[in-house]
Amino acid sequence: MTAHDLLELRRVSRHFGSFRALDEVDLTVRRSARHAIIGPNGAGKSTLFGLISGTLATTGGTILVDGQDVTRLSVERRVGLGVATTFQHSSLFMRETVLENVLLAVLRRAGRGFGGWRSVRGRTAAIEQARTLLERVGLPTRHDVRAAALSHGERRQLEVAVALATEPRLLLLDEPAAGMSPAETARLTELIAALPDEVTVLLIEHDLDMVFGLADTVTVMHLGRHLKTGSPDEVRSSGEVQDAYLGTTGVTS
Ligand code: ADP
Ligand code: MG
Repeated sequence: MTAHDLLELRRVSRHFGSFRALDEVDLTVRRSARHAIIGPNGAGKSTLFGLISGTLATTGGTILVDGQDVTRLSVERRVGLGVATTFQHSSLFMRETVLENVLLAVLRRAGRGFGGWRSVRGRTAAIEQARTLLERVGLPTRHDVRAAALSHGERRQLEVAVALATEPRLLLLDEPAAGMSPAETARLTELIAALPDEVTVLLIEHDLDMVFGLADTVTVMHLGRHLKTGSPDEVRSSGEVQDAYLGTTGVTS
């Protein structure tokens, strides 16, 4: 690990009984990277995100964020260290409004920093920040709509706003474009590309146009193993990778 690396996985494993969903995976993610993870279904991609975010415990290996061992830390502690995740299955509060969903995340992050929700100043600042985030993800006119009433694409946008509310240094996106229209995917790609350098992005995605349009680094996984990491060009032209994934396997989620 060098000072340039924000995330490092050392021989990280997750076994379920005798099944090796992830087996001794080494991976480093450079600070400010736009790093994509691809691989067929069952490769272990979502499991990997569970281990990094802390929703799932490792059965072996070490995970470092900015040089700090987080392997045994709770999800909350990792969020505090700047690790934010949008999951493959939505984690929004469906009965709350768009603005409320973002506000909850803003307040969770700010704690007493705003002088508390009870103070008018605190409330105003939190609402202001939530509004800014919703503008940034392209939902400036949907504040008062319940999350349940959003389109699929809008929900993913809202999830990104919720994740950004925690002021992450590492943003984990698990198939954010799944089920999106081409126009929604394009908008999301733009939004991710426009994130500031301080936010390192690790992205699982089946939409290879999005992957190759956005990523500076691509990791290919297959059957719980780390197959290859390289530039988008290196990965595209790797025969090994095409056999495992690009050529022979259907790209479905
Ligand atoms: P991907 O996201 O690459 O499609 P996953 O990480 O979701 O793959 O799953 C990797 C493998 O681990 C799959 O074969 C899946 O069935 C298995 N797996 C995931 N979670 C569990 C679990 N809780 N118990 C048993 N097997 C699991
Ligand atoms: Mg998955």
